[in-house]
Amino acid sequence: MTAKIIDGKTIAAKVREELAQKIVSENGQDMPVLAVILVGDNEASRIYVRNKKKAAAEVGIGCEVLEFSDTIGEHALLEVIDELNKNSYINGIIVQLPLPKHIDSLHILSKIRPEKDVDGFNPYNAGLLACREPDAIVSATPRGILKLLESTGIELTGKHAVVIGRSNIVGRPVSMLLLNQDCTVSITHSKTENLSEIVRQGDIVVAACGCAKLVKKEWIKEGAVIIDVGINRVDGKLCGDVDFDAVCEKAAFITPVPGGVGPMTVAMLLENTYEAFKKQQKLKTDHVCQCGGHGCGCHHK
Ligand code: NDP
Repeated sequence: MTAKIIDGKTIAAKVREELAQKIVSENGQDMPVLAVILVGDNEASRIYVRNKKKAAAEVGIGCEVLEFSDTIGEHALLEVIDELNKNSYINGIIVQLPLPKHIDSLHILSKIRPEKDVDGFNPYNAGLLACREPDAIVSATPRGILKLLESTGIELTGKHAVVIGRSNIVGRPVSMLLLNQDCTVSITHSKTENLSEIVRQGDIVVAACGCAKLVKKEWIKEGAVIIDVGINRVDGKLCGDVDFDAVCEKAAFITPVPGGVGPMTVAMLLENTYEAFKKQQKLKTDHVCQCGGHGCGCHHK
C-alpha cells in the first residue's frame, strides 16, 4: 500500500479563500480584528506571528501585534489582557507561546475573555469542549486535524484513534474532539508502556510528541490514517514525529511535514477569529439597552 497524501496546504488555502469571500461579502467596512501578544525575542515565535499577521491580512482580518520585552511581569501582562478584553474593537486575543519562565501561562490564558479566546486555550473553553458543548472555541490545531480527517472521507464513528501526546494545546483537545466524534480514543504520553503496541491498534494515529520520526512502519496498522503534528529539525531539515517514507508503505492516508497540519493551524485560527467576530456582532445587535438612549455606548436596536 502507498499512502495517499493529505494535502494540508491545499485544504488550508481553500478554507482561507472561502473565509476571505465571506468577510468581503457579509461585512462591508466592518472587519474582524485579532490581537497577538508577543513576549520576548524567540525567533520561532516571531516567524509564527509574522505568518499569522500575513495570513490574516490576506483574508481581510486586521491583526495588531503587541510586543513586550521578556522582562515584563505577570501583573503587567494581565493588565494588557484586561484592556484587550474590554476593547470592543478587538474580537480575538492570542498569546504566542511559550512565555518566559517567570510567567504562569495558564494564569495568563485563563484571563482572556472566553468569547475572545480564539486559540481556545482558556480552561473555560477547554472545559466546554470536554463537556461536548457546541459553544466551545476549539483550538486551531485540533480543529485543523479534524478537517484533515474529514477530507479523507473515512467514517470516524467507532474508529480507534491513538493520540501520542497529552499537552493542553494539542494532545488533550484533539483527544476530546475525536471522542466527541464517537471515536474510541487512547491517549498516550512519555510514561506510556508498550507504546508501539498501542499505536498498532490505531485506525487513526495522531502523533504530537515532538520526537523526530518516533513512529515507525512496524508500529502502524495496515491502512491506518496518520496525522503527523510534530515539527522537528534534523540536520537543518524539517520532519515530523512519524518516519514518513517507511510509514507511507503501510498507511492509507498520511499528512506530510511540512505541508500537513501546520497550514491548517493558521487557517483555523482565522476561522475562529471570524466566528468570534460574528458572535460578538450578534450580541451587540441583540442587546436591548436599558439606558434609554443616553449615550452609554450600547448599540440600540
Ligand atoms: P509538548 O512538549 O507540550 O507535549 C509533548 C507531549 O508528547 C507530552 O504529552 C509528552 O508526554 C509526549 N511525549 C514526549 N515524548 C514522548 C515519547 N517518547 N513517547 C510518547 N509521548 C511522548 O508539545 P506540544 O503538544 O506543544 O507539541 C507537540 C509537537 O507538535 C511539537 O513538535 C510541536 O512543535 C508540534 N506542534 C505543531 C503544530 C502545528 O501547527 N503543526 C502546533 C502545535 C504544536 P508527557 O506529558 O509525559 O511529558
